[in-house]
Amino acid sequence: MTPGQRLRQLANVLNGSTPLGLLLAGLAGTRTVGGPRGLVIATGYRWRLPFAGAFTVGNVIIYRAGPDAALANPVLLRHEERHSTQYAWCLGVPFVVFYFIAAVWSVLRTGDPASENLFERQAGLAAGGYVDRGRRRPRWTAGRTFGRTSGGNAGEAAGGNADEAAGGNPGGTEA
Ligand SMILES: [Zn+2]
Repeated sequence: MTPGQRLRQLANVLNGSTPLGLLLAGLAGTRTVGGPRGLVIATGYRWRLPFAGAFTVGNVIIYRAGPDAALANPVLLRHEERHSTQYAWCLGVPFVVFYFIAAVWSVLRTGDPASENLFERQAGLAAGGYVDRGRRRPRWTAGRTFGRTSGGNAGEAAGGNADEAAGGNPGGTEA
């Protein structure tokens, strides 16, 4: 571990987010193993929320997939690891509140919770299995030159959310 990774590990223990992640992982009946760079890998998560193939609480990366599939995706792990660093910067659980606000902002701007979510952008949209839908552009027709127009850019928002489930194993089909 680098000094930064050690600091992150310590910070997320002290700010309570890693203990919370371990509690959640335990309550949800996942299997946990020590991962690289001070992370904890929890696999076999079955609860409905959140709607993602993987998510992060402190230093705990929680996957719906089994251990083989989870560890076979280093790109997604790097993405989730950046969320772990974000927890440390946000002093732990406040990250969840900031993330929620950023996701709502993104939905209002782009129609999906990731494209303009600064936490997801910083963690890497593609690495998280997200599609960058960009901003809805104002419509320059009918004399309207500014602001959101009704019915505009419906195509950009169509197609549903490519959330982190795309990078994981949403079905959880492992034995
Ligand atoms: Zn993410």
